[in-house]
Amino acid sequence: MKYLLVLAVIVIAYLLWRGARTRDIQRGRRDTPALPQDMVRCPVCSVHLPRPDAVPGASGRLYCCAEHRRIGGN
Ligand SMILES: [Zn+2]
Repeated sequence: MKYLLVLAVIVIAYLLWRGARTRDIQRGRRDTPALPQDMVRCPVCSVHLPRPDAVPGASGRLYCCAEHRRIGGN
C-alpha cells in the first residue's frame, strides 16, 4: 500500500511537470519576435519609421506625415 502511494505521487509530479513544459513550449512559440521591417527616413525631420507607415510623395520620397510631405514640396 505504501509503494502504491509513492507511485501515485511520482505519477502526479510527472503529469504536473509535463503540463508546465507544454505551456512553456506554447508560450515560446507565441513570443517569437516579429520579422525586421524596412525602415525609411523622413527628409524633413529625419525621423526613422517603418516603410508601410510612410507617406509617399510625388517624387518617390517617403515622409513621416502629410504635413512634412507638404513642407517637402510634394
Ligand atoms: Zn517628418
